[in-house]
Amino acid sequence: MKTLNDFNFKNKKALIRVDFNVPLNDDFKVMDNTRIQSAKATIIKILEDGGSCILMSHLGRPKGEEDKYSLKHIVDAVEDVLGVEVAFASNSIGEEATNAANKLQPGQILLLENLRFHEEEVAGDKLFAEQLASLGDVYVNDAFGTAHRAHASTTVIAQFFPEKKCFGYLLEQEIKSIDKVMKTGEKPVCAVLGGAKVSSKITIIDNILDKIDHLIIGGGMTFTFIKAQGGAIGNSLVEDDKLKLALEILEKAKTKNVQVHLPVDAIIADAFSNDAHTNTCEVNNIPNGWMGLDIGPNTEALFSKVILESKTILWNGPLGVFEMPNFAKGTIALGYAIAEATKNGAFSLVGGGDSVAAVKQFGFEDQVSYVSTGGGAMLESLEGKTLPGIAAILD
Ligand code: AMP
Repeated sequence: MKTLNDFNFKNKKALIRVDFNVPLNDDFKVMDNTRIQSAKATIIKILEDGGSCILMSHLGRPKGEEDKYSLKHIVDAVEDVLGVEVAFASNSIGEEATNAANKLQPGQILLLENLRFHEEEVAGDKLFAEQLASLGDVYVNDAFGTAHRAHASTTVIAQFFPEKKCFGYLLEQEIKSIDKVMKTGEKPVCAVLGGAKVSSKITIIDNILDKIDHLIIGGGMTFTFIKAQGGAIGNSLVEDDKLKLALEILEKAKTKNVQVHLPVDAIIADAFSNDAHTNTCEVNNIPNGWMGLDIGPNTEALFSKVILESKTILWNGPLGVFEMPNFAKGTIALGYAIAEATKNGAFSLVGGGDSVAAVKQFGFEDQVSYVSTGGGAMLESLEGKTLPGIAAILD
């Protein structure tokens, strides 16, 4: 696997695919610069080698050229993070971009306009990729968030740099973290899957059963499993067409010697609202008119024990409706347990959508081993898919 440290960028122009798809407010100010911060190490290494950087990214999902999605809005934020002046080209290809790239001196940075202003980007157009490729000497992919897309700048472009392509530090770290869980994880390996529905996690479960020792199931999908086993779930979220599948998963886990841990109790509510009346009851004995919105205290203790005995932990999906404070307790308790296990030497990876939001919201970000920067890309990795953006560098 070629990484940044395999190259010396002295007098080289690095064409870097970054993920600067950052949230902007109504005044076009960057609300969260995490993604810019994440690319900093890669950019600084190249500048310190004596090279220059051409940064390319998408922002949002524009339909053609839409000013609100212009990357010009983020130039100041990029300069703030990097501490270096950043030039801007108002088109990612063509004369302006070519001239600006040609003028670039060692130590300088050029940011290109939103790649998705050209529909050829998402279409994976070869000619567009070739035009982008002509701007730089070495191609660096550091955008995990789009590594699952076969777009021009993430995948197609790599063929124009047969010997001169590599992963940036961020992408390298993402790949190594996933491998640490899926390939080289110290046993016991535990996966925690929460979130709303079984249907969206089924491919992940199928893929990871070969790699784990414990599977903790929480969140809304709990109730499909509980109902399938004959439990009473009241008005809890359920996928009635997945009951058979739930039993098959449990059976398959048994044949693969994976211990499945389902909740034993639940915090129930008489409405899907933070202001609803609440109670605690056995997870398979929920009265009609009530729904389970979080795990109960006995489940917290049970799950924490499994986590503390694990050496490798993967967490995807909240254990309850954590957006409502009254149903966030189980997710927070899990965060504490994972933080504690990590302190004791376990490797913990949090990835994919809402669990990342929960970890950040409740302040566990620095207490776990790695928080993934890619939602869809992480989910597809856990499903066992080879991401096109990664494959293009490995080719
Ligand atoms: P996902 O995107 O599949 O990971 O689902 C995340 C969503 O699942 C969050 O918005 C949670 O509020 C929701 N969720 C978690 N537990 C429950 C539950 N018991 N009932 C309904 N929704 C839930």
